[in-house]
Amino acid sequence: MSRFFSKKYSALVPYTPGEQPKDVKYIKLNTNESPYPPSKGVLEAVTKEAGWLQLYSDPECSLLHKELSTLYNVEKNQVLATNGSDEILNFAFMAFSDKENPIVFPDITYGFYPVFAEINNIPYEKIPLKEDFSIDVNDYIGINKNIVIANPNAPTGMYLELCDIERIVKSNPDNVVIIDEAYIDFGGESAIPLTKKYDNLIVTRTFSKSYSMAGARLGFGVANESLIADMNTIKYSTNPYNVNRMSQMAGAFAIRENDYYMSNCAEIIKTREYTKNALEKLGFYVLPSKANFVFAKCDKLSGEELYLELKSRGILVRHFTSERIKDFNRVTIGTMEQMETLIKEIKNILEEKR
Ligand code: PMP
Repeated sequence: MSRFFSKKYSALVPYTPGEQPKDVKYIKLNTNESPYPPSKGVLEAVTKEAGWLQLYSDPECSLLHKELSTLYNVEKNQVLATNGSDEILNFAFMAFSDKENPIVFPDITYGFYPVFAEINNIPYEKIPLKEDFSIDVNDYIGINKNIVIANPNAPTGMYLELCDIERIVKSNPDNVVIIDEAYIDFGGESAIPLTKKYDNLIVTRTFSKSYSMAGARLGFGVANESLIADMNTIKYSTNPYNVNRMSQMAGAFAIRENDYYMSNCAEIIKTREYTKNALEKLGFYVLPSKANFVFAKCDKLSGEELYLELKSRGILVRHFTSERIKDFNRVTIGTMEQMETLIKEIKNILEEKR
């Protein structure tokens, strides 16, 4: 730390992203990317748009917002595109939480939430998940604090029914509820339609997972128009050109080719169920997942041992060190072929340990 670093950040513990190795060619199952490439129309649109890089991008993201509002049947002023969903999450933390308006989230969830809270000086509280890693909805009913819930949750993959989400939103009318739907396309029902009914709900989404675009850094939020206006105030006070030209086009054209992406999601769901069954046959405990990953543990070797063994065999999965989940690994669902290799290697590892 330099002697110039502001005291207000000196205790900040930044978010640790998953490994992005540049050396060996791994089967990469550690950061929930899609195993499928972007669609043809997206590649063409991005290439064409690159020819205009000398000009700033559209700060209003007009085309993308139009496509998003049509796809989700909301008004154009109900959407806001951002540089990954991390950015809309940060905007929402900045805009609606502060010392007088603390925020709560589960103890096991996306590791960026406490970082957004810390950097923005927002008091926060972690509400423990139940023993089986599910969310106890009653913990969030009428609690009179801002709330952020990932649905499906990460890294567990566990899903909360839409009626439960609605109960939470409805019972906290004077607080903002953020539902982070990064993984909703893999089998869940979106809360976006509820944004028309409740003026305290923000749904955040990403193109990183179901739309094969993690490298484009594109996310968005859907909410009542006045919540969007407030987040626009934050956007125009930090980075008005937050979404680059190529990503705006990539998003707009991806929506036009929605069928391609939804059929990839269907394939990933099938492969997820294959993976879950195969792991269970090998004696693993696998949480029920509605995401593009599974969270699994095995009593024959520790989470860290399995992570290291797989890494040495060219397969990267994600291991977290926090006490409650250190026995688990989060495994992104790749292609069927990749998952068959994973299962084969796990069988080998278990046999060697016998
Ligand atoms: N929310 C959750 C629950 C996530 O797992 C991720 C991915 N790391 C994000 C949001 C952010 O995704 P992105 O910024 O790539 O849209």
